[in-house]
Amino acid sequence: MKKKTSKGGRRRAPSRTRIKRIGWRGLVAHHESAHAVANCRFGFDLYGVSVVQHEDALGATSGSGGLGYDLETAKGRVTSLLAGYAANLRNGAAEPRARAGAQEDFEAAEELYGFLQIDEAQAIDWAEAFVEEPKNWRAIEEIAEQLLARKRLDGEEVEIMVEVADGVTSSEDLERYRLMAAHVGRGE
Ligand SMILES: [Zn+2]
Repeated sequence: MKKKTSKGGRRRAPSRTRIKRIGWRGLVAHHESAHAVANCRFGFDLYGVSVVQHEDALGATSGSGGLGYDLETAKGRVTSLLAGYAANLRNGAAEPRARAGAQEDFEAAEELYGFLQIDEAQAIDWAEAFVEEPKNWRAIEEIAEQLLARKRLDGEEVEIMVEVADGVTSSEDLERYRLMAAHVGRGE
């Protein structure tokens, strides 16, 4: 069991100014964005991501999440579920706060620990390693920024944004996609 402080001092000392600057909306956007990027990376279907408040949820990422588990899929699923939490820790959020925003994620992930023969600490390590990967963090930050500006992104645009962050698709291609999506009444 990993020891965690509630003062947010343990984890690579992210600066306090950073969390002030992004605020709670920024935390929600990074949380959802991290789920979305992980869904793309693990090849799960991603329908869309939003930071529109709905009932208890502050945001949502919808996708298939990868069903019919083999070990690899289950590992991806657990990593994806806890990526929102891990992103918020990286944002500099205090652990209890990051966890409070990820309660359902932890519950869903827990169902897979037995199958994977892991404990929660291992699952958190996977998620932290995922968000710390520079190309993943770059994509998470860019998608979070778009979410803050536009509230909702469709899965296809997220996938293109991940490719842009990876440098395999140009930002002109992304702009073209946005114009096309706007033209056909999507992407709002
Ligand atoms: Zn979540």
